[in-house]
Amino acid sequence: MAAADDELRELQLASLSVHADDALALVSDVASPLHVSTTFHYNSDPSKLKSAREHDIAISEEPGNFIYSRFSQPVIERVEAVLSAILNGHAVVYGSGLAAYTAALAFYHPKRLSIGNGYHGCHGVANVFSRLGGLEQVPPLHESISAGDVVHVETPINPTGLSINLAEAAEFAHARGAFLLVDATFAPPPLQDPFQFGADLVLHSATKYLGGHSDLLAGVLVTKDAKVRTELIRDRSFLGGAPGNFESWLLLRSLRTFKLRVEAQSRNSGRLVEYLEHARKTGEIPILTKVYHSSLQTDEFVRQQLPHGLYGPTFSIEVESKEIAKQIPSRLKLFHHATSLGGVESLIEWRAMTDATVAENLLRISVGVEDVNDLIADLKHALLSFSK
Ligand SMILES: *Cc1c(COP(=O)(O)O)cnc(C)c1O
Repeated sequence: MAAADDELRELQLASLSVHADDALALVSDVASPLHVSTTFHYNSDPSKLKSAREHDIAISEEPGNFIYSRFSQPVIERVEAVLSAILNGHAVVYGSGLAAYTAALAFYHPKRLSIGNGYHGCHGVANVFSRLGGLEQVPPLHESISAGDVVHVETPINPTGLSINLAEAAEFAHARGAFLLVDATFAPPPLQDPFQFGADLVLHSATKYLGGHSDLLAGVLVTKDAKVRTELIRDRSFLGGAPGNFESWLLLRSLRTFKLRVEAQSRNSGRLVEYLEHARKTGEIPILTKVYHSSLQTDEFVRQQLPHGLYGPTFSIEVESKEIAKQIPSRLKLFHHATSLGGVESLIEWRAMTDATVAENLLRISVGVEDVNDLIADLKHALLSFSK
């Protein structure tokens, strides 16, 4: 972010997504080039060369000083400048959300991890650490949590999109000398800022809203502490978690329209949830038994964590039976039956297919940028087709 730091502080999210990396452009192209090189010329001035004994090769002392793309490369540097600006800290990018989660657990190396339900893949990573190093996994806010441990909170949580109280988790963790790690994938900015509620480290699967087009895998960790950032970058250079050149370029390109997409998707989901909850309550759609979303929670903390009336583009519904849940996706035209979320295309998933822990009558819906009236009509038609 070097040169333009002061000017950047004045800018809002939508402007930062487009301009936070301007100072890092190496050529006059308006759109960033895709740099495919894995290796970079050393300085041609011998007086500027340092041996590996004299400096840390993984940590670039100035922007544009590249050695090998496992450490960093021009587009990673630009992506990290944009993500740092919009996520309100120092961002380090990874090849996937789970690579980022692995990096977070490797960095903290806790004895105990407090972890609730939520994204099944994070449990898979924790299980690897338990196998390799005896990491003990305990339920949310468990009394055994002590200094150096990690409290993991995902909010809003997969697959329901319900919110969990971050301030409460932060108070619990910090009173014991533990760290609060927040997976905020389901509510990227401007919806929610976990740092305001005491997060020590924030994770996003950039595969979802930051990427937004269902065509790249990436993840990001964000810290307020410059020293932690340096440690994460050093770890990443050895663990090999940096994203590929093409994926980082796709992510940079996607970030330009980030705010437009997320706000549109979140507004659409708010309207859909409102319609569905009304149809459930009035009995208009008899097979609809439950609608889950942060917008339907009445707890005061939800309004504080998601203060803009945008409650996240992903939610879940439950229907009368497993059999009906299985058939609904095939009766929809505008929702692909697929896993994942966050893309411009609306998706629906009979979630039991990828997550063995959720109810078998549950469908997860990720809302895209289509016209909301078309989406409502499509869902209404499919759900009513089971009524007679
Ligand atoms: C998808 C997802 C992840 C994992 O991210 P990948 O990019 O698929 O590795 C982690 N947490 C949540 C909440 C997710 O939705």
